[in-house]
Amino acid sequence: GAPGRPAERLSEADLFIAVKTTGRYHGQRLELLLDTWISRNAPHTYVFTDGEDEKLRKKMGPQLINTNCSAAHSRQALSCKMALEYDAFMNSGKKWFCHVDDDNYLNVPPLLRLLSQFGHAQDVYLGRPSLERPIEATETLSNTETVIGKDEFLRFRDIPKQVRFWFATGGAGFCLSRGLALKMKPWASDGAFMATAEHIRLPDDCTVGYIAEALLGVSLTRSPLFHSHLENLDLVSDINKQVTLSYGTVDNKRNTVNVRGPFSVHEDPTRFRSVHCLLYPDTPWCPSAWRL
Ligand code: UDP
Ligand code: MN
Repeated sequence: GAPGRPAERLSEADLFIAVKTTGRYHGQRLELLLDTWISRNAPHTYVFTDGEDEKLRKKMGPQLINTNCSAAHSRQALSCKMALEYDAFMNSGKKWFCHVDDDNYLNVPPLLRLLSQFGHAQDVYLGRPSLERPIEATETLSNTETVIGKDEFLRFRDIPKQVRFWFATGGAGFCLSRGLALKMKPWASDGAFMATAEHIRLPDDCTVGYIAEALLGVSLTRSPLFHSHLENLDLVSDINKQVTLSYGTVDNKRNTVNVRGPFSVHEDPTRFRSVHCLLYPDTPWCPSAWRL
C-alpha cells in the first residue's frame, strides 16, 4: 500500500514477537529488555532460550519457551530455535511474526504503523538486508527429495546449483505475514526448517530468506527502520520513529544510538534505558525530572 495509508487496522495483540536468547545472556541482555520494551508488550512477547531459569520463569511464565536446542552458537542450534519460533507463531493464530535478537530494542508503535500498510494475508517479508549484495548459496542435495516424515517430502532441485537471494539480517529483526508463513510450511514447519538450513548450509536468518525469495519468489521488502549493530548506530536519528535498535562494539569502541537521556553512558552503556525513558517517560524508574 501507499506509505502512511493503513491497509489494515492492527493492534499489539496481532503480533507474535519472538526474542532469541541463550542461557548466558539471561542476566546480561534479557533483563534489560524485560525492564524496557518487553515490559510494555509482555503479553505478545515470547522468549526462546536454551536452558531453564527459575527466576526468568517466575517473571515470564509460559511466555518463556525453553527450546531444548543446544546452547552452542552453531548453525544447527540457531536454526533449531528459529524452527520453534516459527512453529509457535503458526500455532498462535496471530497475524504477524516478528523476530528480534536479545540485543534489540523493539519499538512497537512504529512497528504497528509499518505493518498496517500491508495486509497480513499478503506475502510480506520485511526487514533490513545486512549485505550490499544478495547472498549466494549452494544447494547441497543432488537427489530430488528428502524424506522428512513418513509421507512428507521436501522437494529440492534436481541438480545442485547456486542460488542468489536477499535476506533480512536477524540482528536487525524482521517480520513475516501469516500469509507468507503459511506458504513456507513445507520448508519450515515441524523440523523442516532445520533440514532446509542444512540444505544450504547457512544460518537461520539466511534460511528464512532462502525460503521466501529463492523457493517462494517473495522478495524482501526493505525497511530503513530496522537497525542492527552492523551499521553505525550513531547516525540514527528520530529514535521514536525507528522500529528496532541495537548495540554492540566495533574495534573496542561502543556502537550505540546517540540519545540525550536521563542516564549517562556509564549508567546506561547500551542507551536502551535512556531510549525507553524518552519513549515512556511515565516509567516508574525514569527520573521524575525527566517526566516534566
Ligand atoms: N545466541 C544464541 N546462542 C548462542 C549465541 C547467541 O541463541 O550460542 C543468540 C543471542 O542471544 C542473540 C543472537 O543469537 O539473540 C545473536 O547473538 P550475538 O548478538 O551475540 O551475535 P551477533 O549479533 O554478533 O551475530
Ligand atoms: Mn548481536
